[in-house]
Order: sequence, then structure tokens, then C-alpha cells
Amino acid sequence: MDDNNAPKNFIRQIIDEDLASAKHQSVVTRFPPEPNGYLHIGHAKSIALNFGIANDYQGKCNLRFDDTNPSKESVEFVNAIKRDIEWLGFEWDELRFASDYFDQLYGFAVELVEKDLAYVCDLNAEETRAYRGTLKEPGKNSPYRERSVEENLALLEQMRNGEFKDGSRVLRAKIDMASPNINMRDPIIYRIRKGLVHHQTGDSWCLYPMYDFTHPISDALEGITHSLCTLEFEDHRPFYDWLLDNITIDAHPQQIEFSRGNLQYTITSKRKLLELIEGGYVSGWDDPRMPTIAGARKRGYTPSSLIEFWKRAGITKVDNSIEMASLEAVIREEMEHTALRRMAVLDPLKVTLTTYPEDKTEILTAANHPKDESLGTREIPFTRELMIDRADFLEVKPNKHFKRLVTGGEVRLRNSYVIKCDEVVKDADGNIIELMCSHDENTLGKNPEGRKVKGVIHWVSATAGARAVVNVYDRLFNHPAPGSDKNVADWKDHINTESLIVRDQAYIEPSLLDAVENPRYQFEREGYFYRDPDEEGVVFNRIVSLRDSWAKLNQ
Ligand code: ATP
Ligand code: MG
Repeated sequence: MDDNNAPKNFIRQIIDEDLASAKHQSVVTRFPPEPNGYLHIGHAKSIALNFGIANDYQGKCNLRFDDTNPSKESVEFVNAIKRDIEWLGFEWDELRFASDYFDQLYGFAVELVEKDLAYVCDLNAEETRAYRGTLKEPGKNSPYRERSVEENLALLEQMRNGEFKDGSRVLRAKIDMASPNINMRDPIIYRIRKGLVHHQTGDSWCLYPMYDFTHPISDALEGITHSLCTLEFEDHRPFYDWLLDNITIDAHPQQIEFSRGNLQYTITSKRKLLELIEGGYVSGWDDPRMPTIAGARKRGYTPSSLIEFWKRAGITKVDNSIEMASLEAVIREEMEHTALRRMAVLDPLKVTLTTYPEDKTEILTAANHPKDESLGTREIPFTRELMIDRADFLEVKPNKHFKRLVTGGEVRLRNSYVIKCDEVVKDADGNIIELMCSHDENTLGKNPEGRKVKGVIHWVSATAGARAVVNVYDRLFNHPAPGSDKNVADWKDHINTESLIVRDQAYIEPSLLDAVENPRYQFEREGYFYRDPDEEGVVFNRIVSLRDSWAKLNQ
């Protein structure tokens, strides 16, 4: 039965009752994406819910592509979606396409016509809208509503055979134009789409079923027991039930709605994501700043962090928008325990130790994790020429809180010696290009005698260190709800222009080139970084900073 680790939610309660009352012997769910874009982080909520329930109840979960709108769909998207689900760690029971059922779906449409429960309507889109009425006013019957069954059957077949133009006729269910639920006012169930090549069925169809007609039937044909969907489908449930009650089909799955997972500081509309790609704001669907699952993967997020995030958010019927900080907190928590510690200098400034022999290399040893000895140690080469971060040096100490290096001052190099800055070397324009320093050879692993050195900075050997490109990513938007601010003309005006800073001169500890099982590291004092396996050369992406720098900004 239910896994004790999984939080109880109202859907699991319904399932428990259905199993207890023997309404169902086992549970079958499905995840039904439309292959018209990449999956986003919100989809992970539905994936974790559907596959999680199937796993916990020893049931099944199908992956079904809801592919009834060929103009926006493609095999590229089908493959990307499969890859993302697998990466999240889930296995589907059966792989289906709604288009697998086109023949059967058409058969059910014919059945409705034969029962005088569907008719061919010749109103155009505008007229159909006008006849539909409003929330306050009932609709009017279409003048084509009383066509005979024979005429409807003949017209439907002609529609299927491509004898009519796009938009000239539709097939509608015959329900009730005065229903308070607009979805029940004779909804369109088939439309003509000529000249399109469907990624699965090619050119065999020019008549396509609507989502609301396809979905319940696909669920029933697959023996889905609980059809879980987001709240906007609540108003579609009466049609879902009407349809299954009026065709000859054995199963009648139960549709259950839950609230969408929305994340602040981002957008998930596929149309807008496409606009970001086409406008060159990001490099593609898997740009590490995109809210897609592919983007999260490339950024360095782990599957477990995404799943844990949605688990904490919970499954309810209340619409809410979750702070980006909560997602970042989950990955930070995970990385705090699992990421190996390393030093990397992103914006290098050369340091020469005049007191250190030119040809000497010392191999220092440091723990991989300050709190977990089982994670072992690594070796760090120490040489006369080093790199430190530019931000760790100032010519003049600005205030007493500044603990880093200043002219004439001392600082400890992490895992190594205390050094003192004796001289600053500048180029003709006055830019600092090098620091001439001396080291205290009695300070390796020991405090210096007779004085306190408070500051600790990180460093990498300039001669024995490795080179890398480090992409410092930040949030793509600087507004919690991009586009909602009336003072801003376009949602794209909320794009954070500093969402990517490329550090292509970075120095890294050479052990960062070693192959490890989990290529996620804490670069000390900098953040958590992921070695991107899909990029040529040595490329690290910042997953998240060490602390939430946005919290302060928003106070
Ligand atoms: P979008 O409107 O953002 O493009 P969609 O709902 O059209 O997304 P689908 O491919 O139709 O995308 O979604 C597949 C499944 O994922 C559906 O069952 C849908 O309800 C669910 N889903 C989509 N977005 C979310 C979300 N933010 N939270 C939870 N479930 C979601
Ligand atoms: Mg959809």
C-alpha cells in the first residue's frame, strides 16, 4: 500500500478509499504532456505526483503524448520530454500517443452522431462565439443543430475525406446551449486541419479531435483509474463525464484536479519561453536560466532536489505561487551535505611570493568536506606564483570589517600559509596587475606567532592550477511575477541583464579535472557549481550562490 514517506494528500486519500471499497483493485495514472515544447519545472510536480503514486501503490503510470494539434508538435519535443522524465528517475509503464487512438476516436464520434448526440455545424468561428452566449447569458442553438443523423453521418465522412476547407465545418457534441457551464454548450469535438503532417500519423488525417474529446477517451482506453490534472480543467469535468457516459466504453476514470505549481521570478508559458529563445535572450530550451527541466539539469540541479521541492510544496486545491528562494534552499541544503569543497578563482589577480623558491611545488592536502571525513581529501599544489580573486584585495583598507588583503597587510591563504602584501604592481594605465607578497613559512596549519591574522581567502596556483570557463548564472527575471507590473510595457523588461556573467579566465584546483561520481562542488566562498558534461573544454555552471542574495534586496 502507501509509502509512509510520501506525504498524505487528498488525492492519496481518495485512492485509499477506492482501494478499500474495492472500486479499484489497483491504481493506473498517466502523465499526458503535449509535445509542443520542453517540460518546465511545473510539469515536474505533475510527473512526481503521477509516477510517485504509481510507484507507491505498486500501480502503473503511462506516458501519453497528447498530440492532437500537429501544427505545434514535433518529434524533437517528444524525445526531449522522454529524456527529462527518465532523468527525473521515473519509468513509464506504457508509452502511448493520443494519435494511436485516432481510428477509435473517430468511431466514437460516429457513435455520438448515430445517437443524435453530435452534429456537423457550419457556423464560422465568429458566429460560433456569438451563439455561445456568455457567463451571464445562455447561448442560442445553432441553425445546424437539427440536421438529421443521416445528413450528419454523410457530412462527417466528407469532412474526414478532405472535401471541405479548414474552418468551414466542425463536429459538435449536442448537449445544452443554456447550460450554466459554457463547456457544455455544444462543445466542438472535431475540426478540419488540412495540409499538415502529423509527427506520428503523417498525412492520414485532415480531421483532428479536440483535447476535451480525446483526453477522457484515451484515459478510458488505457484503463486509467485516476486522471489527475490541474485546476483549470475543473470546468471541463462535466464534459469528461458526459462523454464517457454516452459512448460504449467500459471504463470511467475519475478526474481529480489539483493546483498548478507556480514559481516566482519565472514564467512557464511555452509561448513566452519560445519568445525568449527566438529573441536570443537565452541560448535554447536547455539554457541553464530557463525554467525547463532540461535547463535545470544543465544548470546542475539534481533530480532529487526538484522532487523534494514539489514534495514540500504539497498537493492541494489552493492556487499559490512559490518563492524561487524555496527551490534554491532545497538544492543548497542538498549540496551542503554532498558537494565536495574546492577552490576556484573566478576573477584572477596574480600574486608572486618573493620569499618562495621558483622551482618548488609543495603538495598540500585538504579535506573534501569540513564535516564529513568519509568524503576523503584531495591534493592541492602550492607554488611561488598564485592567483587570488580581485575582490579579495584593496590597496587601502576601507573599514575595520574588511578582513581580506590590503597593502602591507596579512591574510591567510586557505589550507595554506599566511602571506603579506609588500608591493602593488600596476600597468601604464594604473590597473593593478600583480601583487608582490612574502609568506611566513611557520604558518602552515599553525597560527602565526605574536599576532592574529583574521582574514582567510581562497587561491589557486598560477602554474600548477587548471583553467576553466565559469558561467555565473543568476535569476533570469528581476521581478517575482514578470509582466504583472503595470508600469512596465513588456514582460521582457523584467529580464535580469546580469543573469549570466561569464568568467572565462578562471583558475581552478587541478583535482577539479578528476572524474567523480557527483560533479557538483562548492567553490569555497563562491557558491555551488556543476561541471557541464555537454560543453567542450572545462565549463562549470553556477547552480546557486551560497546565500540568498535576493532576500536582502527585497526587504
Ligand atoms: P503550459 O500551459 O505551461 O504550456 P500545459 O498545461 O499546456 O503547460 P501540458 O503538456 O498540457 O502543458 O501538460 C502536461 C501535464 O502537466 C498536464 O496534466 C498539466 O496539467 C500538467 N502541468 C502543466 N503545468 C503544470 C504546473 N505548473 N503544475 C502542475 N502540473 C502542471
Ligand atoms: Mg496543456
